[in-house]
Amino acid sequence: MNENAKKTSMIFRQEEEFFVNESFEQVLCRWYESNHRKLPWRETSDPYKIWISETMLQQTRVETVIPYYFRFLEQFPTVQDLAKADEQQVLKIWEGLGYYSRARNLHVAAKEITEKYCGKLPYDPKELLKLKGFGPYTTGAVASIAYNLPVPAVDGNVMRVMSRIEKCFSDITRAKTKKEIEGFVRAHMKNCAPCIFNQALMELGATVCLPKNPKCLDCPVQKFCQAYQDGCALDLPIKSKAKARKKETHLVFYARDHEKRTWVQKRPNTGLLANLYELPHILVGSQEKEACRRLKEDMFLDFQTEDGVVFRVSEVMLTFTHLFTHIEWELMVADAKVLHALAGKSIGEFCTPAEIEKLPFAAPFLKIINTVFV
Ligand code: SF4
Repeated sequence: MNENAKKTSMIFRQEEEFFVNESFEQVLCRWYESNHRKLPWRETSDPYKIWISETMLQQTRVETVIPYYFRFLEQFPTVQDLAKADEQQVLKIWEGLGYYSRARNLHVAAKEITEKYCGKLPYDPKELLKLKGFGPYTTGAVASIAYNLPVPAVDGNVMRVMSRIEKCFSDITRAKTKKEIEGFVRAHMKNCAPCIFNQALMELGATVCLPKNPKCLDCPVQKFCQAYQDGCALDLPIKSKAKARKKETHLVFYARDHEKRTWVQKRPNTGLLANLYELPHILVGSQEKEACRRLKEDMFLDFQTEDGVVFRVSEVMLTFTHLFTHIEWELMVADAKVLHALAGKSIGEFCTPAEIEKLPFAAPFLKIINTVFV
């Protein structure tokens, strides 16, 4: 072996020894640096943009979030722009992304940040946690990714990865288990950059340590994974079954006047889908469902909504299901006419397609308007 070859071989051996002694967090961070997906919010260290992306990504797929992220920042490039906006504008941009309380909370928190923190997201995690919509996850994500502070950001992906790495058989739906996992993450964070480590855990959970088919053979941290070593990766995490969703059937009135305007109404400002627009609908039982299904030519049924509008239904055109976290709606969409509405008393009114276009609609009604009746 010539001198150069000897030197090269020595360097390789030193590198191998160096990597052999690496800790879990070092291996994971090194893997992340060269393997992570290029995503728009990873190109920035702006706390505002990181906060927006982390909020959008909760319960939502990356591919769905990307266009919303760009549209949102185009319309509201700074915290101040968001704070100044009308809530309806914010909900309109969020339309279709679901979990609308996230958008309302962003808007309220932007006002708080503008008024109390001169438009800059606070550096102190305790202050972040006081902002509307900031739970432990969002606080950890913003504090670690934007400010590189050692604060865990434990979401479903991280729970799964850490349950497997630590072979933790505690039920991840329990608050106590979340605390336990935050403890594991905090302990590992001591020896690396928190901004990389938190993102690396999330990335491993999203791309390698998958719920049903973990890619253990390709996993960079396989040798640290106690569940893999003991052959129980697929048994983890332990997650008690969520309560079955409550089922409701709603009769939706798709009512248009002779000018092709559609009757729409705004939802109350609290509760499910607060402040969003919808088509009027009422909760129906099995008898009304059956009666509507039996409607034939020249037959009709009249229904009155809580605010006194009487709709005449001539045909059920479509039935579909929409799932919320805790409720399942069966929606029977009926062709209807407004028979009677007391002026000034009703919460609804006829709107033109151009007016409807500007209003933020709740997802199931948006589906009816955009897909079924175009
Ligand atoms: Fe997940 Fe398998 Fe890697 Fe363990 S070895 S962290 S179970 S992908």
